[in-house]
Amino acid sequence: MTFAIHGLPVARGIAIGRAVIMAGRVDVAHYFIEASQVEEEIARLRSARDAVADEIRRLQQTIVAMGPKEAPHELTALLDVHLMLLQDQDLIDGVRHWITERLYNAEWALTTQLEALSRQFDEMEDEYLRERKADLEQVAERVLRYMKGVASPVAAPPRRASQGRQQDLLLEGTVDVPLVLIAHDLSPADMLQFKQSVFAGFVTDVGGRNSHTAIVARSMDIPAVVGSRSASHLVRQDDWVIIDGDAGVVIVDPSPIILAEYGFKQRQAELERGRLSRLRHTPAVTLDGQKIELLANIEQPEDAAGALAAGAVGVGLFRSEFMFMGRQGHLPDEEEQYLAYRRAVDGMQGLPVTIRTIDVGADKPLDDTRRDAAHLNPALGLRAIRWSLAEPAMFLTQLRAILRAAAYGKVNMLIPMLAHVSEIRQTLSLIDYARSELDGRGVAHGPVDIGAMIEIPAAALTLKTFLKYFDFLSIGTNDLTQYTLAIDRADESVAHLYDPCHPAVLRLVAQTIAEGAAQGKPVSVCGEMAGDTALTRLLLGLGLRSFSMHPAQILAVKQEVLRSDAARLAPWAQRVLEAEEPSQLLD
Ligand code: PEP
Ligand code: MG
Repeated sequence: MTFAIHGLPVARGIAIGRAVIMAGRVDVAHYFIEASQVEEEIARLRSARDAVADEIRRLQQTIVAMGPKEAPHELTALLDVHLMLLQDQDLIDGVRHWITERLYNAEWALTTQLEALSRQFDEMEDEYLRERKADLEQVAERVLRYMKGVASPVAAPPRRASQGRQQDLLLEGTVDVPLVLIAHDLSPADMLQFKQSVFAGFVTDVGGRNSHTAIVARSMDIPAVVGSRSASHLVRQDDWVIIDGDAGVVIVDPSPIILAEYGFKQRQAELERGRLSRLRHTPAVTLDGQKIELLANIEQPEDAAGALAAGAVGVGLFRSEFMFMGRQGHLPDEEEQYLAYRRAVDGMQGLPVTIRTIDVGADKPLDDTRRDAAHLNPALGLRAIRWSLAEPAMFLTQLRAILRAAAYGKVNMLIPMLAHVSEIRQTLSLIDYARSELDGRGVAHGPVDIGAMIEIPAAALTLKTFLKYFDFLSIGTNDLTQYTLAIDRADESVAHLYDPCHPAVLRLVAQTIAEGAAQGKPVSVCGEMAGDTALTRLLLGLGLRSFSMHPAQILAVKQEVLRSDAARLAPWAQRVLEAEEPSQLLD
Protein backbone atom coordinates (compact mmCIF):
# COMPACT_ATOMS: atom_id res chain seq x y z
CA MET A 1 0.00 0.00 0.00
CA THR A 2 1.34 3.41 -0.96
CA PHE A 3 2.16 5.83 1.84
CA ALA A 4 4.25 8.98 2.24
CA ILE A 5 6.73 10.03 4.90
CA HIS A 6 7.57 13.69 5.34
CA GLY A 7 11.00 14.99 6.21
CA LEU A 8 13.29 17.86 5.34
CA PRO A 9 14.48 18.38 1.77
CA VAL A 10 18.25 18.28 1.56
CA ALA A 11 19.50 17.54 -1.90
CA ARG A 12 17.40 18.16 -4.94
CA GLY A 13 16.05 15.76 -7.47
CA ILE A 14 14.06 12.57 -7.58
CA ALA A 15 15.43 9.10 -6.83
CA ILE A 16 13.45 5.94 -7.45
CA GLY A 17 14.81 2.65 -6.21
CA ARG A 18 14.67 -0.26 -3.84
CA ALA A 19 15.29 0.37 -0.15
CA VAL A 20 18.40 -0.80 1.64
CA ILE A 21 17.83 -0.40 5.37
CA MET A 22 20.68 0.45 7.68
CA ALA A 23 19.45 -0.29 11.18
CA GLY A 24 20.36 2.33 13.73
CA ARG A 25 19.99 0.43 16.98
CA VAL A 26 23.66 -0.45 17.32
CA ASP A 27 26.52 1.64 16.09
CA VAL A 28 28.21 -0.72 13.65
CA ALA A 29 30.10 -0.61 10.40
CA HIS A 30 28.08 -1.03 7.20
CA TYR A 31 29.92 -1.94 4.03
CA PHE A 32 29.77 -4.29 1.10
CA ILE A 33 32.21 -7.16 0.90
CA GLU A 34 33.65 -8.82 -2.19
CA ALA A 35 32.02 -12.09 -3.29
CA SER A 36 35.31 -13.86 -2.50
CA GLN A 37 35.07 -12.73 1.14
CA VAL A 38 31.70 -14.37 1.90
CA GLU A 39 33.09 -17.44 3.67
CA GLU A 40 35.55 -15.37 5.64
CA GLU A 41 32.74 -13.04 6.74
CA ILE A 42 30.53 -15.94 7.83
CA ALA A 43 33.46 -17.39 9.76
CA ARG A 44 34.06 -14.04 11.46
CA LEU A 45 30.48 -13.97 12.61
CA ARG A 46 30.61 -17.62 13.70
CA SER A 47 33.66 -17.08 15.85
CA ALA A 48 32.04 -14.00 17.46
CA ARG A 49 28.93 -16.04 18.18
CA ASP A 50 30.99 -18.88 19.69
CA ALA A 51 32.94 -16.44 21.82
CA VAL A 52 29.73 -14.87 23.12
CA ALA A 53 28.28 -18.31 23.86
CA ASP A 54 31.43 -19.14 25.89
CA GLU A 55 31.09 -15.82 27.67
CA ILE A 56 27.48 -16.60 28.61
CA ARG A 57 28.38 -20.11 29.80
CA ARG A 58 31.15 -18.69 31.98
CA LEU A 59 28.69 -16.19 33.38
CA GLN A 60 26.27 -19.00 34.15
CA GLN A 61 28.98 -20.90 36.03
CA THR A 62 29.78 -17.83 38.09
CA ILE A 63 26.12 -17.36 38.89
CA VAL A 64 25.68 -20.98 39.93
CA ALA A 65 28.75 -20.66 42.17
CA MET A 66 27.22 -17.60 43.82
CA GLY A 67 24.30 -19.68 45.06
CA PRO A 68 20.55 -19.03 44.77
CA LYS A 69 20.49 -16.14 47.22
CA GLU A 70 22.57 -13.66 45.28
CA ALA A 71 21.85 -15.08 41.85
CA PRO A 72 18.25 -16.13 41.40
CA HIS A 73 17.35 -19.08 39.29
CA GLU A 74 15.60 -16.78 36.77
CA LEU A 75 18.94 -15.32 35.81
CA THR A 76 20.41 -18.68 34.83
CA ALA A 77 17.22 -19.47 32.94
CA LEU A 78 17.45 -16.16 31.11
CA LEU A 79 21.01 -16.91 30.07
CA ASP A 80 19.76 -20.27 28.81
CA VAL A 81 17.31 -18.40 26.61
CA HIS A 82 20.16 -16.23 25.34
CA LEU A 83 22.22 -19.32 24.53
CA MET A 84 19.27 -20.79 22.69
CA LEU A 85 18.69 -17.61 20.72
CA LEU A 86 22.33 -17.59 19.68
CA GLN A 87 21.69 -20.93 17.97
CA ASP A 88 18.34 -19.81 16.51
CA GLN A 89 18.10 -21.16 12.99
CA ASP A 90 16.08 -18.18 11.67
CA LEU A 91 18.75 -15.84 12.92
CA ILE A 92 21.59 -17.91 11.49
CA ASP A 93 19.95 -18.54 8.12
CA GLY A 94 18.86 -14.94 7.79
CA VAL A 95 22.29 -13.53 8.52
CA ARG A 96 23.86 -15.99 6.11
CA HIS A 97 21.36 -14.85 3.46
CA TRP A 98 22.27 -11.16 3.79
CA ILE A 99 25.98 -11.99 3.60
CA THR A 100 25.86 -14.34 0.64
CA GLU A 101 23.07 -12.77 -1.39
CA ARG A 102 23.62 -9.10 -0.65
CA LEU A 103 27.30 -9.06 0.25
CA TYR A 104 26.61 -7.15 3.45
CA ASN A 105 29.39 -7.22 6.02
CA ALA A 106 28.62 -9.48 8.99
CA GLU A 107 27.55 -6.70 11.38
CA TRP A 108 25.21 -5.18 8.82
CA ALA A 109 23.78 -8.62 8.02
CA LEU A 110 23.17 -9.28 11.69
CA THR A 111 21.41 -5.97 12.33
CA THR A 112 19.31 -6.39 9.18
CA GLN A 113 18.16 -9.84 10.25
CA LEU A 114 17.58 -8.59 13.76
CA GLU A 115 15.30 -5.91 12.34
CA ALA A 116 13.35 -8.49 10.33
CA LEU A 117 12.93 -10.82 13.31
CA SER A 118 11.96 -7.94 15.60
CA ARG A 119 9.06 -7.19 13.28
CA GLN A 120 7.93 -10.81 13.45
CA PHE A 121 8.08 -10.70 17.25
CA ASP A 122 6.01 -7.50 17.27
CA GLU A 123 3.26 -9.26 15.37
CA MET A 124 3.06 -12.24 17.75
CA GLU A 125 -0.12 -12.75 19.75
CA ASP A 126 1.60 -14.49 22.66
CA GLU A 127 2.89 -11.95 25.13
CA TYR A 128 5.68 -14.18 26.44
CA LEU A 129 7.01 -14.71 22.94
CA ARG A 130 6.61 -11.01 22.13
CA GLU A 131 8.83 -10.20 25.07
CA ARG A 132 11.59 -12.48 23.78
CA LYS A 133 12.35 -9.71 21.27
CA ALA A 134 14.31 -7.84 23.95
CA ASP A 135 16.38 -10.97 24.62
CA LEU A 136 17.13 -11.36 20.96
CA GLU A 137 18.26 -7.74 20.80
CA GLN A 138 20.50 -8.19 23.81
CA VAL A 139 22.10 -11.28 22.36
CA ALA A 140 22.69 -9.61 19.01
CA GLU A 141 24.15 -6.59 20.74
CA ARG A 142 26.54 -8.80 22.68
CA VAL A 143 27.76 -10.30 19.40
CA LEU A 144 28.05 -6.88 17.78
CA ARG A 145 29.92 -5.50 20.74
CA TYR A 146 32.31 -8.43 20.65
CA MET A 147 32.85 -7.90 16.92
CA LYS A 148 33.43 -4.20 17.29
CA GLY A 149 36.75 -4.88 18.92
CA VAL A 150 37.90 -6.97 15.99
CA ALA A 151 35.82 -5.53 13.16
CA SER A 152 37.28 -4.18 9.96
CA PRO A 153 37.00 -0.43 9.48
CA VAL A 154 34.04 0.97 7.57
CA ALA A 155 34.70 0.76 3.86
CA ALA A 156 32.91 2.44 1.04
CA PRO A 157 30.55 0.27 -0.95
CA PRO A 158 32.01 -0.31 -4.39
CA ARG A 159 31.32 2.03 -7.25
CA ARG A 160 28.60 1.12 -9.62
CA ALA A 161 30.91 0.98 -12.63
CA SER A 162 33.13 -1.65 -11.07
CA GLN A 163 30.37 -3.73 -9.57
CA GLY A 164 30.17 -6.51 -12.14
CA ARG A 165 29.16 -9.77 -10.53
CA GLN A 166 28.67 -8.18 -7.17
CA GLN A 167 26.11 -5.75 -8.52
CA ASP A 168 24.24 -8.61 -10.17
CA LEU A 169 24.14 -10.44 -6.89
CA LEU A 170 23.11 -7.36 -5.05
CA LEU A 171 20.17 -6.82 -7.29
CA GLU A 172 19.24 -10.46 -7.58
CA GLY A 173 19.68 -10.54 -11.31
CA THR A 174 17.87 -7.30 -12.05
CA VAL A 175 20.75 -5.24 -13.32
CA ASP A 176 20.42 -1.48 -13.07
CA VAL A 177 17.78 -1.26 -10.37
CA PRO A 178 18.90 1.71 -8.30
CA LEU A 179 19.20 1.36 -4.53
CA VAL A 180 18.31 3.99 -1.96
CA LEU A 181 19.70 3.97 1.56
CA ILE A 182 17.33 4.39 4.50
CA ALA A 183 19.10 4.90 7.83
CA HIS A 184 18.24 6.02 11.30
CA ASP A 185 21.28 8.27 11.36
CA LEU A 186 24.45 8.72 9.38
CA SER A 187 27.47 10.59 10.63
CA PRO A 188 29.12 13.02 8.19
CA ALA A 189 32.01 10.56 7.94
CA ASP A 190 29.60 7.68 7.10
CA MET A 191 28.04 9.84 4.45
CA LEU A 192 31.41 10.62 2.95
CA GLN A 193 32.14 6.90 2.75
CA PHE A 194 29.09 6.56 0.53
CA LYS A 195 30.36 9.10 -1.98
CA GLN A 196 30.66 7.41 -5.38
CA SER A 197 28.59 4.56 -4.04
CA VAL A 198 25.79 2.56 -5.54
CA PHE A 199 23.11 4.52 -3.73
CA ALA A 200 20.83 6.76 -5.76
CA GLY A 201 19.36 8.54 -2.74
CA PHE A 202 19.41 8.79 1.06
CA VAL A 203 16.83 9.12 3.80
CA THR A 204 17.57 9.46 7.51
CA ASP A 205 15.28 9.61 10.52
CA VAL A 206 17.22 12.37 12.23
CA GLY A 207 19.14 15.50 11.26
CA GLY A 208 18.47 19.07 10.19
CA ARG A 209 18.77 20.60 6.70
CA ASN A 210 22.11 22.15 7.51
CA SER A 211 23.60 19.38 9.59
CA HIS A 212 26.96 18.32 8.27
CA THR A 213 25.51 14.99 7.19
CA ALA A 214 23.00 16.87 5.05
CA ILE A 215 25.76 19.06 3.64
CA VAL A 216 27.77 16.05 2.56
CA ALA A 217 24.64 14.52 0.99
CA ARG A 218 24.13 17.75 -0.93
CA SER A 219 27.70 17.72 -2.11
CA MET A 220 27.05 14.27 -3.55
CA ASP A 221 24.27 15.79 -5.61
CA ILE A 222 21.83 12.97 -5.14
CA PRO A 223 18.33 13.30 -3.74
CA ALA A 224 18.17 13.13 0.04
CA VAL A 225 15.67 13.68 2.82
CA VAL A 226 16.62 13.96 6.50
CA GLY A 227 14.59 14.32 9.68
CA SER A 228 11.97 11.83 8.47
CA ARG A 229 11.72 10.60 12.08
CA SER A 230 10.57 7.07 11.33
CA ALA A 231 11.55 6.07 7.79
CA SER A 232 13.98 3.39 8.98
CA HIS A 233 11.13 1.72 10.86
CA LEU A 234 8.34 2.18 8.32
CA VAL A 235 10.21 1.24 5.18
CA ARG A 236 11.14 -2.39 4.72
CA GLN A 237 14.11 -3.93 3.04
CA ASP A 238 13.55 -3.97 -0.75
CA ASP A 239 10.44 -1.76 -0.74
CA TRP A 240 10.17 0.45 -3.79
CA VAL A 241 10.74 4.03 -2.69
CA ILE A 242 10.58 7.45 -4.33
CA ILE A 243 12.70 10.15 -2.70
CA ASP A 244 11.61 13.64 -3.63
CA GLY A 245 14.59 15.69 -2.52
CA ASP A 246 12.91 18.98 -3.52
CA ALA A 247 9.79 18.49 -1.44
CA GLY A 248 11.33 16.42 1.39
CA VAL A 249 8.91 13.55 0.81
CA VAL A 250 9.51 9.81 0.70
CA ILE A 251 6.85 7.77 -1.06
CA VAL A 252 6.85 4.09 -0.19
CA ASP A 253 5.46 1.37 -2.43
CA PRO A 254 4.18 3.84 -5.05
CA SER A 255 1.34 2.96 -7.41
CA PRO A 256 2.11 2.75 -11.15
CA ILE A 257 0.51 6.19 -11.72
CA ILE A 258 2.67 7.84 -9.06
CA LEU A 259 5.75 6.07 -10.41
CA ALA A 260 5.02 7.35 -13.91
CA GLU A 261 4.53 10.89 -12.64
CA TYR A 262 7.82 10.92 -10.75
CA GLY A 263 9.60 9.22 -13.65
CA PHE A 264 8.47 12.18 -15.77
CA LYS A 265 9.70 14.71 -13.18
CA GLN A 266 13.03 12.89 -13.04
CA ARG A 267 13.47 13.18 -16.81
CA GLN A 268 12.55 16.89 -16.72
CA ALA A 269 15.22 17.50 -14.08
CA GLU A 270 17.79 15.70 -16.21
CA LEU A 271 16.89 17.88 -19.22
CA GLU A 272 17.28 20.99 -17.06
CA ARG A 273 20.73 19.83 -15.96
CA GLY A 274 21.68 19.30 -19.59
CA ARG A 275 20.58 22.86 -20.39
CA LEU A 276 22.54 24.29 -17.46
CA SER A 277 25.73 22.47 -18.40
CA ARG A 278 26.01 24.77 -21.43
CA LEU A 279 26.79 27.63 -19.01
CA ARG A 280 29.95 25.96 -17.77
CA HIS A 281 32.35 28.20 -19.70
CA THR A 282 30.22 31.35 -19.53
CA PRO A 283 31.75 33.97 -17.21
CA ALA A 284 29.52 34.80 -14.23
CA VAL A 285 28.73 38.46 -14.92
CA THR A 286 25.53 40.27 -14.02
CA LEU A 287 23.47 42.23 -16.54
CA ASP A 288 25.09 45.44 -15.27
CA GLY A 289 28.59 44.05 -15.73
CA GLN A 290 29.49 42.99 -12.16
CA LYS A 291 31.92 40.08 -12.15
CA ILE A 292 30.84 37.43 -9.65
CA GLU A 293 33.21 34.83 -8.26
CA LEU A 294 31.63 31.36 -8.03
CA LEU A 295 33.78 29.05 -5.92
CA ALA A 296 33.42 25.44 -4.81
CA ASN A 297 33.08 23.88 -1.36
CA ILE A 298 34.90 20.55 -1.22
CA GLU A 299 35.44 17.84 1.40
CA GLN A 300 38.24 15.83 -0.19
CA PRO A 301 41.11 16.67 -2.58
CA GLU A 302 39.48 14.40 -5.17
CA ASP A 303 36.47 16.74 -5.27
CA ALA A 304 38.63 19.27 -7.13
CA ALA A 305 37.87 17.53 -10.42
CA GLY A 306 34.12 17.99 -9.88
CA ALA A 307 34.70 21.63 -8.94
CA LEU A 308 36.57 22.27 -12.20
CA ALA A 309 33.98 20.37 -14.20
CA ALA A 310 31.25 22.58 -12.74
CA GLY A 311 33.13 25.72 -13.81
CA ALA A 312 34.27 26.84 -10.33
CA VAL A 313 36.97 29.53 -10.44
CA GLY A 314 38.57 28.19 -7.28
CA VAL A 315 37.85 26.42 -4.01
CA GLY A 316 36.31 28.76 -1.46
CA LEU A 317 36.07 26.18 1.33
CA PHE A 318 38.01 22.94 1.66
CA ARG A 319 36.56 21.34 4.80
CA SER A 320 39.83 19.71 5.87
CA GLU A 321 38.30 17.99 8.91
CA PHE A 322 36.97 15.09 6.84
CA MET A 323 40.53 13.87 6.48
CA PHE A 324 40.72 13.56 10.26
CA MET A 325 37.47 11.70 10.88
CA GLY A 326 36.88 8.03 11.56
CA ARG A 327 40.58 7.28 12.17
CA GLN A 328 40.12 6.02 15.71
CA GLY A 329 42.63 8.48 17.10
CA HIS A 330 45.36 8.08 14.45
CA LEU A 331 45.35 11.56 12.97
CA PRO A 332 47.06 12.21 9.64
CA ASP A 333 50.68 13.33 10.01
CA GLU A 334 52.24 16.35 8.29
CA GLU A 335 53.31 14.42 5.21
CA GLU A 336 49.90 12.83 4.65
CA GLN A 337 48.17 16.17 5.07
CA TYR A 338 50.65 18.01 2.88
CA LEU A 339 50.16 15.45 0.09
CA ALA A 340 46.37 15.78 0.38
CA TYR A 341 46.44 19.60 0.26
CA ARG A 342 48.88 19.41 -2.60
CA ARG A 343 46.51 17.09 -4.51
CA ALA A 344 43.75 19.68 -4.09
CA VAL A 345 46.08 22.47 -5.25
CA ASP A 346 47.32 20.47 -8.25
CA GLY A 347 43.75 19.36 -8.98
CA MET A 348 42.59 22.97 -9.27
CA GLN A 349 45.22 23.63 -11.94
CA GLY A 350 46.40 27.03 -10.78
CA LEU A 351 43.08 28.28 -9.40
CA PRO A 352 43.07 29.37 -5.73
CA VAL A 353 42.28 26.87 -2.96
CA THR A 354 41.03 28.05 0.42
CA ILE A 355 41.85 25.43 3.03
CA ARG A 356 39.92 25.74 6.26
CA THR A 357 41.77 24.50 9.30
CA ILE A 358 40.18 21.59 11.10
CA ASP A 359 36.60 22.19 12.25
CA VAL A 360 35.67 19.16 14.37
CA GLY A 361 33.28 18.86 17.26
CA ALA A 362 29.50 19.17 17.64
CA ASP A 363 27.90 17.16 14.80
CA LYS A 364 31.32 16.38 13.28
CA PRO A 365 32.97 14.08 15.85
CA LEU A 366 36.46 12.88 15.02
CA ASP A 367 35.27 9.32 15.49
CA ASP A 368 32.84 7.30 17.57
CA THR A 369 35.33 6.73 20.34
CA ARG A 370 35.60 10.49 20.82
CA ARG A 371 31.89 11.27 20.51
CA ASP A 372 31.52 13.92 23.10
CA ALA A 373 28.39 12.79 24.87
CA ALA A 374 29.60 14.11 28.21
CA HIS A 375 29.05 17.71 27.20
CA LEU A 376 25.50 18.92 27.06
CA ASN A 377 26.08 21.55 24.39
CA PRO A 378 28.83 20.30 22.10
CA ALA A 379 28.02 22.99 19.50
CA LEU A 380 29.02 25.53 22.13
CA GLY A 381 31.97 23.50 23.29
CA LEU A 382 35.47 22.59 22.19
CA ARG A 383 34.87 22.95 18.46
CA ALA A 384 36.91 24.13 15.48
CA ILE A 385 39.63 26.70 16.35
CA ARG A 386 38.97 26.15 20.06
CA TRP A 387 39.94 22.51 19.61
CA SER A 388 42.96 23.44 17.47
CA LEU A 389 44.24 25.89 20.07
CA ALA A 390 43.75 23.26 22.74
CA GLU A 391 45.86 20.81 20.68
CA PRO A 392 48.73 23.03 19.52
CA ALA A 393 50.95 20.17 18.32
CA MET A 394 48.18 18.89 16.05
CA PHE A 395 47.39 22.42 14.89
CA LEU A 396 51.03 23.21 14.08
CA THR A 397 51.23 20.00 12.08
CA GLN A 398 48.26 21.10 10.01
CA LEU A 399 49.58 24.64 9.59
CA ARG A 400 52.96 23.38 8.36
CA ALA A 401 51.26 21.04 5.90
CA ILE A 402 49.13 23.88 4.49
CA LEU A 403 52.09 26.25 4.24
CA ARG A 404 54.09 23.58 2.40
CA ALA A 405 51.27 23.02 -0.10
CA ALA A 406 51.17 26.79 -0.66
CA ALA A 407 54.57 26.55 -2.38
CA TYR A 408 52.80 24.85 -5.29
CA GLY A 409 49.84 27.15 -6.02
CA LYS A 410 47.63 29.90 -4.66
CA VAL A 411 46.49 28.79 -1.21
CA ASN A 412 44.41 30.73 1.30
CA MET A 413 44.03 29.65 4.91
CA LEU A 414 40.65 30.02 6.60
CA ILE A 415 40.11 29.85 10.36
CA PRO A 416 36.72 28.65 11.69
CA MET A 417 34.71 29.76 14.74
CA LEU A 418 36.77 32.68 15.96
CA ALA A 419 35.18 35.07 18.44
CA HIS A 420 37.90 36.53 20.66
CA VAL A 421 40.82 38.72 19.78
CA SER A 422 42.99 36.51 21.99
CA GLU A 423 42.12 33.53 19.76
CA ILE A 424 43.00 35.60 16.70
CA ARG A 425 46.38 36.56 18.12
CA GLN A 426 47.20 33.02 19.23
CA THR A 427 46.25 31.65 15.83
CA LEU A 428 48.33 34.17 13.91
CA SER A 429 51.35 33.63 16.11
CA LEU A 430 51.05 29.85 15.68
CA ILE A 431 50.99 30.37 11.90
CA ASP A 432 54.20 32.45 12.20
CA TYR A 433 55.72 29.77 14.40
CA ALA A 434 54.82 27.02 11.88
CA ARG A 435 56.57 29.08 9.19
CA SER A 436 59.67 29.45 11.34
CA GLU A 437 59.71 25.71 12.02
CA LEU A 438 59.70 25.03 8.29
CA ASP A 439 62.47 27.58 7.78
CA GLY A 440 64.45 25.86 10.53
CA ARG A 441 64.08 22.54 8.72
CA GLY A 442 64.88 24.16 5.36
CA VAL A 443 61.53 23.03 3.92
CA ALA A 444 59.88 25.03 1.13
CA HIS A 445 56.65 26.85 1.90
CA GLY A 446 54.56 29.50 0.20
CA PRO A 447 52.71 32.70 1.07
CA VAL A 448 49.07 32.44 2.16
CA ASP A 449 46.29 34.94 2.59
CA ILE A 450 44.67 34.33 5.95
CA GLY A 451 40.93 34.67 6.41
CA ALA A 452 38.44 34.32 9.23
CA MET A 453 35.07 32.67 9.14
CA ILE A 454 32.35 34.96 10.37
CA GLU A 455 30.00 32.43 11.88
CA ILE A 456 29.56 33.50 15.48
CA PRO A 457 27.44 36.62 16.06
CA ALA A 458 30.21 38.01 18.27
CA ALA A 459 32.52 38.01 15.25
CA ALA A 460 29.94 39.71 13.04
CA LEU A 461 29.50 42.39 15.70
CA THR A 462 33.23 43.09 16.05
CA LEU A 463 34.17 43.22 12.40
CA LYS A 464 36.63 46.04 12.84
CA THR A 465 38.91 43.71 14.79
CA PHE A 466 38.57 40.95 12.22
CA LEU A 467 39.22 43.30 9.32
CA LYS A 468 42.31 44.58 11.07
CA TYR A 469 43.93 41.16 11.44
CA PHE A 470 42.74 39.24 8.38
CA ASP A 471 43.16 39.45 4.60
CA PHE A 472 39.64 38.25 3.85
CA LEU A 473 36.41 37.08 5.49
CA SER A 474 34.11 34.19 4.71
CA ILE A 475 30.62 34.16 6.17
CA GLY A 476 29.57 30.76 7.49
CA THR A 477 25.85 31.28 7.36
CA ASN A 478 25.10 27.76 8.59
CA ASP A 479 26.62 28.38 11.98
CA LEU A 480 25.81 32.08 11.98
CA THR A 481 22.14 31.10 11.74
CA GLN A 482 22.53 28.39 14.39
CA TYR A 483 24.22 30.68 16.89
CA THR A 484 22.14 33.80 16.20
CA LEU A 485 18.84 31.99 16.57
CA ALA A 486 19.97 29.45 19.20
CA ILE A 487 18.79 26.59 16.98
CA ASP A 488 20.78 23.37 16.81
CA ARG A 489 21.32 22.97 13.07
CA ALA A 490 21.30 19.17 13.41
CA ASP A 491 18.08 18.88 15.41
CA GLU A 492 15.04 18.11 13.26
CA SER A 493 12.63 18.98 16.08
CA VAL A 494 13.50 22.69 15.79
CA ALA A 495 14.28 22.66 12.08
CA HIS A 496 11.18 24.75 11.30
CA LEU A 497 12.76 27.61 13.28
CA TYR A 498 16.13 27.43 11.53
CA ASP A 499 15.84 30.40 9.18
CA PRO A 500 18.85 32.00 7.46
CA CYS A 501 16.46 34.75 6.34
CA HIS A 502 15.58 35.78 9.87
CA PRO A 503 16.09 39.59 9.94
CA ALA A 504 18.78 39.25 12.62
CA VAL A 505 20.84 36.83 10.53
CA LEU A 506 20.40 38.89 7.37
CA ARG A 507 21.50 42.02 9.20
CA LEU A 508 24.73 40.36 10.34
CA VAL A 509 25.38 39.06 6.82
CA ALA A 510 24.67 42.47 5.26
CA GLN A 511 26.91 44.32 7.73
CA THR A 512 29.78 41.94 7.10
CA ILE A 513 29.50 42.36 3.34
CA ALA A 514 29.25 46.16 3.62
CA GLU A 515 32.13 46.61 6.09
CA GLY A 516 34.39 44.30 4.09
CA ALA A 517 33.68 46.32 0.95
CA ALA A 518 34.30 49.59 2.80
CA GLN A 519 37.73 48.34 3.91
CA GLY A 520 38.51 46.87 0.49
CA LYS A 521 38.78 43.33 1.89
CA PRO A 522 37.21 40.39 0.06
CA VAL A 523 34.14 38.84 1.68
CA SER A 524 32.48 35.65 0.52
CA VAL A 525 29.65 33.49 1.78
CA CYS A 526 30.50 29.79 2.07
CA GLY A 527 27.44 28.57 4.01
CA GLU A 528 24.54 26.82 2.31
CA MET A 529 22.89 30.18 1.54
CA ALA A 530 25.47 30.74 -1.20
CA GLY A 531 24.20 27.78 -3.18
CA ASP A 532 20.50 28.48 -2.70
CA THR A 533 19.21 29.97 -5.95
CA ALA A 534 16.25 31.48 -4.12
CA LEU A 535 18.72 33.74 -2.29
CA THR A 536 21.17 34.62 -5.09
CA ARG A 537 19.44 37.88 -5.99
CA LEU A 538 19.20 38.95 -2.37
CA LEU A 539 22.90 38.35 -1.76
CA LEU A 540 23.81 40.17 -4.98
CA GLY A 541 21.61 43.07 -3.89
CA LEU A 542 23.39 43.15 -0.53
CA GLY A 543 26.67 43.58 -2.41
CA LEU A 544 28.06 40.04 -2.27
CA ARG A 545 30.44 39.31 -5.14
CA SER A 546 31.91 35.97 -4.05
CA PHE A 547 29.85 32.81 -3.46
CA SER A 548 31.22 29.43 -2.40
CA MET A 549 29.01 26.35 -2.68
CA HIS A 550 28.82 22.69 -3.64
CA PRO A 551 29.92 22.23 -7.23
CA ALA A 552 26.48 20.83 -8.03
CA GLN A 553 24.91 24.23 -7.36
CA ILE A 554 27.31 26.41 -9.32
CA LEU A 555 25.59 26.36 -12.72
CA ALA A 556 22.14 27.05 -11.30
CA VAL A 557 23.49 29.99 -9.29
CA LYS A 558 25.36 31.22 -12.38
CA GLN A 559 22.09 31.22 -14.29
CA GLU A 560 20.59 33.50 -11.62
CA VAL A 561 23.63 35.78 -11.76
CA LEU A 562 23.39 36.11 -15.55
CA ARG A 563 19.73 37.16 -15.22
CA SER A 564 20.34 39.72 -12.45
CA ASP A 565 21.05 43.42 -12.42
CA ALA A 566 22.98 43.92 -9.17
CA ALA A 567 22.55 47.72 -9.05
CA ARG A 568 18.80 47.47 -9.47
CA LEU A 569 18.58 44.74 -6.83
CA ALA A 570 20.28 46.89 -4.17
CA PRO A 571 17.27 49.01 -3.07
CA TRP A 572 15.02 45.94 -3.08
CA ALA A 573 17.56 44.04 -0.95
CA GLN A 574 17.51 46.90 1.58
CA ARG A 575 13.72 46.62 1.79
CA VAL A 576 14.04 42.84 2.37
CA LEU A 577 16.56 43.55 5.11
CA GLU A 578 14.19 45.88 6.89
CA ALA A 579 11.13 43.65 6.57
CA GLU A 580 9.60 41.89 9.53
CA GLU A 581 9.43 38.68 7.55
CA PRO A 582 12.05 38.93 4.79
CA SER A 583 11.22 35.57 3.22
CA GLN A 584 7.79 36.88 2.23
CA LEU A 585 9.46 39.38 -0.10
CA LEU A 586 11.73 36.85 -1.72
CA ASP A 587 9.33 35.33 -4.22
C1 PEP B 1 29.07 27.44 7.98
O1 PEP B 1 28.98 27.33 9.20
O2 PEP B 1 28.29 28.12 7.28
C2 PEP B 1 30.14 26.74 7.24
C3 PEP B 1 30.37 26.95 5.98
O3 PEP B 1 30.87 25.83 7.93
P1 PEP B 1 30.32 24.39 8.34
O4 PEP B 1 29.00 24.19 7.63
O5 PEP B 1 31.33 23.39 7.92
O6 PEP B 1 30.17 24.51 9.81
MG1 MG C 1 30.60 26.50 10.36
